[in-house]
Amino acid sequence: MRFDLITIFPEFFAGPLDHGILRRAREAGLVDVQVQDLRVFTKDRHRSVDDRPFGGGEGMVLKPEPLFEAAEALLGCNLGSAEQPVSLDPKTAIILMSAAGTLFRQETARRYAELERIVLICGRYEGVDERVADYLATEEISIGDYVLSGGELPAMLIIDAVTRLIPGALGNEASSQNESFSANPAVSPDSSPVVAQHVPPLQAGSRLTNRVLLDFPHYTRPADFRGWKVPDVLIGGNHAEVANWRRAAAIEKTQRNRPDLLLR
Ligand code: SAH
Repeated sequence: MRFDLITIFPEFFAGPLDHGILRRAREAGLVDVQVQDLRVFTKDRHRSVDDRPFGGGEGMVLKPEPLFEAAEALLGCNLGSAEQPVSLDPKTAIILMSAAGTLFRQETARRYAELERIVLICGRYEGVDERVADYLATEEISIGDYVLSGGELPAMLIIDAVTRLIPGALGNEASSQNESFSANPAVSPDSSPVVAQHVPPLQAGSRLTNRVLLDFPHYTRPADFRGWKVPDVLIGGNHAEVANWRRAAAIEKTQRNRPDLLLR
């Protein structure tokens, strides 16, 4: 999988790419992350990437030409015009980071993990000329309902979430199948062959059978920390009881922290 970041702050990415799973995935050749300085694609003396908004108003807007040309240079093809629109290879995505985009979710990360090439466009200032969203980007993506000052952190977050889903990126393959937002971490009868084979499936027709749940709570040593004790069932060694407890705890936690997931 190759990621290309288009940004006016290339130095931003020195650091976040160099730790943990992401670093290992890069070293193992599972992902290649390249950072492209947008200013390279400016033609004027001041290397301007932005301009004032048509119609007036606050702030500056990223111009379309350098962004189209950066993407064209990276992908090695012409990306068209109004007269001659072109369509991209379906294994390639050009993603515009945007507070006004559609929401990035775990299912989006799963879809991206199937691709071969992802170009991430990081906006700044008031945002990006809308023709980039309409005619260059294949998707306009928001990472949540808040406004950040740039698309660099959102792009980084997408690279992280997608990379850990690429086969071989996690030490333990099971860990990306059995966690928050996977299809029912502690609930689906086949979610964990070791413990879940003893667990009766939820009642047919139950609202929770096909829901995406949050992960169940995890504990480690010490069993008693300042008087706060680990639930007895986790220490008892009964796999079926542990699985039942985890299933109930995942449902309870989802109800408490993210009731919206149960209504989807
Ligand atoms: N005027 C815009 C905000 C611009 S913020 C609006 O009201 O929607 C500047 C840049 O930060 C955006 O172009 C985008 O690339 C990035 N950004 C800000 N919030 C984001 C979010 N929630 N998700 C993804 N990108 C975001």
